[in-house]
Amino acid sequence: MRKPMRVKKFLYFADFAFYPLASVALVAAALLLKEPLGWDGAAIGFACGLALWTLAEYLIHRFALHGPAYLAALHDMHHSDPRALVGSPLWLSLGSILCGSLLPVWLLTGLATACAVTAGLMLGYIYFSLLHHIVHHHPTKRGGYLWRLKRRHARHHYGKTPCNFGVVTSMWDRVFGTFCSE
Ligand SMILES: [Zn+2]
Ligand SMILES: [Zn+2]
Repeated sequence: MRKPMRVKKFLYFADFAFYPLASVALVAAALLLKEPLGWDGAAIGFACGLALWTLAEYLIHRFALHGPAYLAALHDMHHSDPRALVGSPLWLSLGSILCGSLLPVWLLTGLATACAVTAGLMLGYIYFSLLHHIVHHHPTKRGGYLWRLKRRHARHHYGKTPCNFGVVTSMWDRVFGTFCSE
């Protein structure tokens, strides 16, 4: 039986086209809806979504993927074979983003703000996916940003203590005391 988090190559890479386009569509919606945001409001909402992603990324990785046995077992597939195309199927990532961001922000503030925030969150998610793919699949230039990121993430994979849960930023690891240096 195919393991649930091992996605087909086409679907794995389709995310990299789908999410940027969906993000642009949501920004357009935020600007063009019946009660739209201005450019400044859309930019602030988008930035909040991006920032929110970095926290969500940390919390999901630390407490869900390294938490309950069922989820941890799925994530273990990535830890035991970091170069395999392991990821979230689109229905799961998109469903989580819609239920975790679009709907609650819509209920709290309105649809246009929800679109802008969710656009930022989506771009954060796909930026994370891209960085994570690069650190496991591509050589990086010694001393550069990606090289340092690769070393930091390697500590998460191969270090003795659980640390460095953040990929996009090490900020939340530093805030919550789970940072270990490269
Ligand atoms: Zn992990
Ligand atoms: Zn990894």
